[in-house]
Amino acid sequence: DKQYVGFATLPNQVHRKSVKKGFDFTLMVAGESGLGKSTLVHSLFLTDLYKERKLLSAEERISQTVEILKHTVDIEEKGVKLKLTIVDTPGFGDAPITDYVDQQFEQYFRDESGLNRKNIQDNRVHCCLYFISPFGHGLRPVDVGFMKALHEKVNIVPLIAKADCLVPGEIRKLKERIREEIDKFGIHVYQFPECDSDEDEDFKQQDRELKESAPFAVIGSNTVVEAKGQRVRGRLYPWGIVEGESRPGAQPLGGKAPVGRWPTHRPPLPAVENQAHCDFVKLRNMLIRTHMHDLKDVTCDVHYENYRAHCIQQMTS
Ligand code: GDP
Ligand code: MG
Repeated sequence: DKQYVGFATLPNQVHRKSVKKGFDFTLMVAGESGLGKSTLVHSLFLTDLYKERKLLSAEERISQTVEILKHTVDIEEKGVKLKLTIVDTPGFGDAPITDYVDQQFEQYFRDESGLNRKNIQDNRVHCCLYFISPFGHGLRPVDVGFMKALHEKVNIVPLIAKADCLVPGEIRKLKERIREEIDKFGIHVYQFPECDSDEDEDFKQQDRELKESAPFAVIGSNTVVEAKGQRVRGRLYPWGIVEGESRPGAQPLGGKAPVGRWPTHRPPLPAVENQAHCDFVKLRNMLIRTHMHDLKDVTCDVHYENYRAHCIQQMTS
């Protein structure tokens, strides 16, 4: 079972109209510069663009982000299309990001009140992945400030960046700490909805695991390598270690060397897609398979409605 995006496989998520028209979804990444935001979105989605091309290292593809950048990727699976827009931001305070989110609401509000209401281009941000440093011992004031400035405007999904810098025990502790602080400071991060009681046991189990894993710990890959004919994501370190993928039955990468500096010494380090070490796969499934519609619904029904009510109140007072 290959790790493709799975939006075509979930009937409860696929509305007939969406199947015909395709989905669109806008994902933003935010947080301090250097935490691996650009790298992660490439690992999550954009590497697909490079499938047929020569492999480039992330360093070659990703230059430092200096302004808010939008990338659009079309992903198709079993005839179902997804137009994914990624809003990549450099690390700066919350003000420019708040402005960006507001501007999208403003544009939507204007279009909705205009003549061409049927064909509105929806650029509202449906989800914001907020990167937290793995080196702090929880939230820093800047994290609290950012999330509180944005939490009534956008669905915030907090992430622990560069999880490969921590050992599993440290990740567990940091997650616990962050969960407590989110609570303590009254930060409203995106709440995963209750699981329907008529879902099957497998689904319920996955849902529990997803909720228990938050805030997700992620690793961005800086290379894609070929292992037994399959492309896998890993991190190539300067000293030459590749994290192979640990699929059931997978062997350590061996034999012919697919990339230049193929290491001779390969300890079994975690792969980006290895769920035992990081929540990369959970995050991707959550965004694209299981929770895309809910993220969009909350954006429209809660965040945008708040904005709209506020605008109308201003106009009439
Ligand atoms: P951004 O400023 O948040 O967009 O960060 P970048 O994606 O530009 O990454 C900054 C640096 O961190 C680059 O050298 C990346 O290769 C490296 N990096 C990205 N993700 C990870 C990760 O998960 N673990 C480690 N150790 N390094 C990472
Ligand atoms: Mg960047």
